Amino acid sequence: MKLPKVAYFCMEFGLHEDFNIYSGGLGILAGDILKAAKDKGYPIIGMGILWRQGYTKQLIDANGRPYDCYPEYVYDFLKDTNVTVKVNIKGRDVAAKVWLCESFNNSPLYLLDTNIPENPDRLITGQLYGWFEEQRIAQEMILGIGGIRALKKLGIDVDVYHFNDSHPILAGIELIREKMQDGMSFEKAWSETRKQIVFTTHTPVEAGNEVHTYDLLKYAGAFNGLTDEQMVQIGGEPLSMTVAGLRLSKKANAVSQLHGQTAKKMWEHVEGASGIIAITNGVHNGTWQDQRMANATSGSELWERHMELKREMIEEIYKRNGVRLKEEVLTIGFARRFAPYKRSNLIFTNKELIEPLLKEGKLQLIFSGKAHPNDLAGKKIVEDLYKMTELYPENVIFLQNYDIKIGKMLTRGCDVWLNNPIRPMEASGTSGMKAAMNGVLNLSILDGWWPEFCIHRVNGWQIGDGYEGEDCDEKDAESLYKVLFEEVIPTYYENRQRWLNMMKDSIRMSGRRFSAERMIEDYYNLMYQPQASDLAAAAMEQGD
Ligand SMILES: *Cc1c(COP(=O)(O)O)cnc(C)c1O
Repeated sequence: MKLPKVAYFCMEFGLHEDFNIYSGGLGILAGDILKAAKDKGYPIIGMGILWRQGYTKQLIDANGRPYDCYPEYVYDFLKDTNVTVKVNIKGRDVAAKVWLCESFNNSPLYLLDTNIPENPDRLITGQLYGWFEEQRIAQEMILGIGGIRALKKLGIDVDVYHFNDSHPILAGIELIREKMQDGMSFEKAWSETRKQIVFTTHTPVEAGNEVHTYDLLKYAGAFNGLTDEQMVQIGGEPLSMTVAGLRLSKKANAVSQLHGQTAKKMWEHVEGASGIIAITNGVHNGTWQDQRMANATSGSELWERHMELKREMIEEIYKRNGVRLKEEVLTIGFARRFAPYKRSNLIFTNKELIEPLLKEGKLQLIFSGKAHPNDLAGKKIVEDLYKMTELYPENVIFLQNYDIKIGKMLTRGCDVWLNNPIRPMEASGTSGMKAAMNGVLNLSILDGWWPEFCIHRVNGWQIGDGYEGEDCDEKDAESLYKVLFEEVIPTYYENRQRWLNMMKDSIRMSGRRFSAERMIEDYYNLMYQPQASDLAAAAMEQGD
């Protein structure tokens, strides 16, 4: 059977640190899919936006506070497709130029760009996740409506439209509009469109899901020819982007097994929603796994290579921060977006416990991450952590402007990878997969992907027992100290053989299971290809 052709729509794509059109995990996932698709020859193309100013370049000022800057980026590796599409926004036609990116061993990625002279409003595609709601809607119109028009003009056949998170849902509205223009009723056009769409949901907190008022959507022109009533049928009132995603798709997926349970419960009240299944994320091995770690056959070879990677990291940190870490000291890494639920400073909850370790030089901590420009609570956490680096300049490090380069370096150079989100708010988490593949041992709360993989004291460590409750900060900090003092530190300093065995198991068990290649196979088997149930329904329809 011929594989369905897939257009993968996403607000951001993380392909390389020098291509700043991504912010975090969502974009890295999208980038890794295009790379794995290219490796294996899957007919998947990407549709996204060429962000001129990208996501914040976040630096730390002299007072230890994060600040945001937005240089204008110029990318000379993009190919001009000579295709331009128009989208009517706020009553005016806005043109978007279509670029093609194939520079990172990725399958074709098409990028929409409004930064052209004929537009009165050139920087709609300026900042990723920046500015106001009104601007966000305009950006989503470019991605959704413009994306469908671009595919048509480029002459690209598509069997399945995959919406990665809900930002592209207006593409579904455009597909409905096209069919109605050809004379179909709204109901028929909607049900036919659903057969073409699959949807990946991410945010496991209802409040974190994007909602827009109809006044604003209408003012922007996002109805795209549909009536108020039709829009409400799809997205509810106010319009919930995730509800719309669930009602526009034939099938939806959550991004880990635990997130599958959370998402099913969270959206069970939505009538007419597509069924949510769980397909755990994976990462692109070629990008994230050091080949020599993957292929090391003996324990000594593994350790030697690990120490090489650790030394490279130490060298790079010295270049950036002027601090030289010690290679023989246990080194814990923590790098992620500084959203408050990730609790980046949890390890400092009880200073009396953690400070002696730092004073004695038994522990080194490396942090990196950006807070969203408007997230003052997240920025306060960056500030607090930065203070710790001033108190312990020899062994607490903060690397500013977290990006793919830093992510790569830390997930192969540290000894331990720490993750302590408030359960169940981490939908998947992929940095831990990168670490696992490099023998960097995960020390993590049982959230996201980790409960599927963790065998405590065999391939990493679990913090606590999956506790959920109001007082989880206190409980989780206690559990973190317990495993750190009773397991991680003694094993590192007193039982190197066991440490090596754990590294081996971590690498051996994760390489395929958390690969983007396995994830794409799951997408094909469980989402893209017509399912037995779809075929039965189609046969019934024909029999009518
Ligand atoms: C892998 C990666 C992420 C996602 O990691 P999480 O564990 O989901 O936080 C975010 N940013 C960068 C730069 C990454 O490499």
